Amino acid sequence: MKWKLGKATFEFIKDKCSCGLGRCVEACGQGVFDFLEKPQKIKVVNLTQCILCRQCEEVCPKKAISIQGALTMQDIRMGK
Ligand code: SF4
Ligand code: SF4
Repeated sequence: MKWKLGKATFEFIKDKCSCGLGRCVEACGQGVFDFLEKPQKIKVVNLTQCILCRQCEEVCPKKAISIQGALTMQDIRMGK
């Protein structure tokens, strides 16, 4: 599924979500995800709280989350 968040696009590919550990749930400080025990996948429950920090994308070993069009920390430092 894909969602627009301002100029950014947040994509969660459910079929790829298979680490079984919910690493992204732990990484996200905004409570955007729930981890479902059955099936062992996440559910996106609170995307309006997402601050596009990309921590979830970084920790996901299965590349199930991808964020495009968001500013990186380097962009922010460069004043973009
Ligand atoms: S880290 Fe990736 S594979 Fe693991 S629960 Fe989160 S989205 Fe799914
Ligand atoms: S980008 Fe950051 S705030 Fe948004 S869902 Fe991922 S970890 Fe949570």
